[in-house]
Amino acid sequence: MTDFAHPAERREHILRAAVRQGLLDPERAVLAGFVDLDGVAATVDSLHRAFPDSLRVLHAFAAKANCLVPVLAELRRAGMGCEVATAGELARALEAGFAPDRIVFDSPAKTRAELEWALDLGVTINADNFAELSRIDAILADRPFSRSRIGVRVNPQVGGGTIAAMSTATRHSKFGIPLADGDNRQRLLRAYRERPWLTWVHTHVGSQGCPLELIAQGIAQAVEFADEINDHLGRRQVVGVDIGGGLPVNFADDEVRPGFDTYVDHLREYAPDLFTGRYEIVTEFGRSVLAKNGFTAAYVEYTKEAGGRPIAITHAGVQVATRTVFAPDAWPLRVEAHHPHGGAKSGEPVRQDVAGPACFAGDLLARDRALPLLEPGDIVVLPDTGAYYFSTPFHYNSLPEPAVHGVRVAADGRVDFEPIRPAQATHVPVTAGRAAHASGVR
Ligand SMILES: *Cc1c(COP(=O)(O)O)cnc(C)c1O
Repeated sequence: MTDFAHPAERREHILRAAVRQGLLDPERAVLAGFVDLDGVAATVDSLHRAFPDSLRVLHAFAAKANCLVPVLAELRRAGMGCEVATAGELARALEAGFAPDRIVFDSPAKTRAELEWALDLGVTINADNFAELSRIDAILADRPFSRSRIGVRVNPQVGGGTIAAMSTATRHSKFGIPLADGDNRQRLLRAYRERPWLTWVHTHVGSQGCPLELIAQGIAQAVEFADEINDHLGRRQVVGVDIGGGLPVNFADDEVRPGFDTYVDHLREYAPDLFTGRYEIVTEFGRSVLAKNGFTAAYVEYTKEAGGRPIAITHAGVQVATRTVFAPDAWPLRVEAHHPHGGAKSGEPVRQDVAGPACFAGDLLARDRALPLLEPGDIVVLPDTGAYYFSTPFHYNSLPEPAVHGVRVAADGRVDFEPIRPAQATHVPVTAGRAAHASGVR
């Protein structure tokens, strides 16, 4: 009896159904992404439950983590808002049906036209720097009325985590206004005094690799600064604090660790004032909402040996696991071996390389990894790839974007798939594959 709640068995169950239903096929669908929509609902529920009901909180999903419109629409229906970092993401959020006042626009490079668009829509804006604030001044001069809530992103400069590229609150970070530099604090206080419409403070300390203590310390600084502004102005001008996202994800096994409740425990310790109800709160979680609710599956096309080590050449590589391929130490992924029918492979682990299809030697999902020996026609599964992987493909080598399927598993085990993104055309004449198939040549 399959336990549909156990993640590995659930993946196996879904994979078997995907093969049976032809969503994975050694000729026509060699690579696909899957989003577990039941899992997404449960994760969003755990996020909502982690914060006390007494607080006014908008949980805005960071669209860059998985910007597929049906996924965004699913998150909207689950009660989330949406954080966007570009005009392209803003367009997708609107297409997914988010009301403008539930969209938060953060970008360090907003053009004038983008700002005008956002202000006309009434989307929340977090300004990244003083020059952007002046630009907003000029736009608002022509439009005395905008529904947008407007804040400033501050950099609390609390330091970085283990992945430099994911650490946004370092001394030299490109994001936000660094609070400790020069007379920035005074300049900011003046900026809030001169602009009564500036009513939010925003910070995002970093993503994967940032310890919870560091994130909570950065948020504590943002809350303190909000208090400082209001004290300084003698009025409650700042009404909300946007605390960003960045809850790290465990890529080593199936345990969800840390959970949102642990994150909130850290906030209570470092930033207790956030729980007084004095401020409205926005959160911007991405990876922690989607990563563990998606997996990638790809066929093994060939196997060989080089230097005495087996290599499996699969159809998943840099085009769907870009960070893992280019920065393997920072972004290791698990690889699971499955039979052609989708069942998990058992057998003596053999150290082998698992490669992708792209034309450069570094296109490897895993090096020297102990796994049941992969054979041609087997399927490899990459768990934890629901965020920042198949949803944001890399177009190197003209490799096509794979299909992405939403999945729900009923209590009786029935697996229902729904299309999230069609596969991009492969440009291989269909007849070529069929002829080879018919003649038994593979
Ligand atoms: C990337 C980003 C997020 C989301 O980070 P996760 O690690 O995916 O939770 C939130 N806010 C901002 C401003 C970001 O740049």
